[in-house]
Amino acid sequence: MPTVGILGAGAMGAGIAQVASTAQWRVRLIDVDLPTCEAAKQSIAKRLARNVEKNRMSQSEADAAFANILPSTHEDVSDCDLFIEAIVEDLNIKVSALKPILARLGTEAIIATNTSSLSVSDLGERIGAADRTCGMHFFNPAPIMKLVEVVRGNATQPSVLDRVSSIARDWNKQVAQCADTPGFIVNRVARPYYLEAFRCLEDGLADPAAIDDAMKTIGGFRMGPFELTDFIGHDVNTATTRSIWEQWNRPSRLAPVAIQEQLVSDGTLGRKTGCGVYDWSGEQPVCVLRPPQDAATGVSNLDDIAIRFCEAATANPESIARCSDRQRVIFTRILAAIINEAAWAAHDGVATEADIDIAMQAGVNYPHGLFNWSRDIGSDLVVMTLSALNATTDDGRFIPPLIDSGEHGSP
Ligand code: NAD
Repeated sequence: MPTVGILGAGAMGAGIAQVASTAQWRVRLIDVDLPTCEAAKQSIAKRLARNVEKNRMSQSEADAAFANILPSTHEDVSDCDLFIEAIVEDLNIKVSALKPILARLGTEAIIATNTSSLSVSDLGERIGAADRTCGMHFFNPAPIMKLVEVVRGNATQPSVLDRVSSIARDWNKQVAQCADTPGFIVNRVARPYYLEAFRCLEDGLADPAAIDDAMKTIGGFRMGPFELTDFIGHDVNTATTRSIWEQWNRPSRLAPVAIQEQLVSDGTLGRKTGCGVYDWSGEQPVCVLRPPQDAATGVSNLDDIAIRFCEAATANPESIARCSDRQRVIFTRILAAIINEAAWAAHDGVATEADIDIAMQAGVNYPHGLFNWSRDIGSDLVVMTLSALNATTDDGRFIPPLIDSGEHGSP
């Protein structure tokens, strides 16, 4: 039986252990001590039992998966084919934790990191195994979310990426390969979904509930940007924005928005504190954040292009009449912004168009891949729309890569 070592039995490590053990891999689960690993194994047992109750797996499959997980220590890793680290997001701590393990791992074993924001290349270099180190970026909760971003460090051997991609597929995941760049694919390309929504609010176009409604009704997104950021937590969401914005040299497309940062300063972080953009304390969420009183409204010069863009983009044509003019403009701004970010990511060499499309559908449940969506809308109409949107701002955030002079955000 193939064996994976997993360092870190927290939210991600335990989730990955469940995924691998269910796919009939032996899992050596390691944390600061054995009782912590045992506790994680018991929490996995509860999730396996729920899967049996819901007929997602048989009792014997759950028993086998449970038996495949072996709480282990650093001493036990010599039989691991793959070793995944999922401990705290700190490069120095990851390096010091991995070095003694590397001394005991087989020389052919692949090392993968689940980091969301650190450089895979730096980690590989600092542990002295850059050629066999890559990223294996799972999403939370790992047993449910379908995507794994397989991240190519500067020195990672292609055979390592092929092998890890094939393992992830055997573990029933979809794979998007990408370069070792800030935010990889999903965390970067999804940024304008949140940021442009906050900018629409800042511009006084509508209240958050109407913005969420536009994205769900016209676009078929499962959650609107404000529901989603309340769910993620505004502290986590703004920290990711800042980190990616800084690392990509502060392009206006990825710039933080003051209203969201104010939510963090006020401690209204979303569902986890009971209140964010919505108040979550009652049975139904109640929208409590309003557009600023001094917001400059009025975008009527976009009405015509927004109608054309929405008609071409929607799978739900009745939604066009049901939504207000402003909601159509909002939808146009937000979808055009994420399509543009996907184009920038491909332009910057982050990943292929096909892999970006897989990542956004499997990683954040977008209803379509953004390149496919853009082709369905029509590339000419998308470019015309970006140009019309660009004429309404002075920050250049809607400029697409092919007509850019190079001043708008390449690293
Ligand atoms: P977590 O805090 O839930 O778990 C971390 C675990 O690592 C803890 O059990 C801790 O005891 C253990 N640990 C810490 N230092 C250790 C050491 N030196 N040796 C052994 N064990 C040690 O964290 P998490 O949310 O599971 O995140 C883990 C990694 O996954 C991070 O790199 C994070 O950025 C990344 N990630 C997190 C998410 C998410 O949504 N939580 C999503 C994708 C990636």
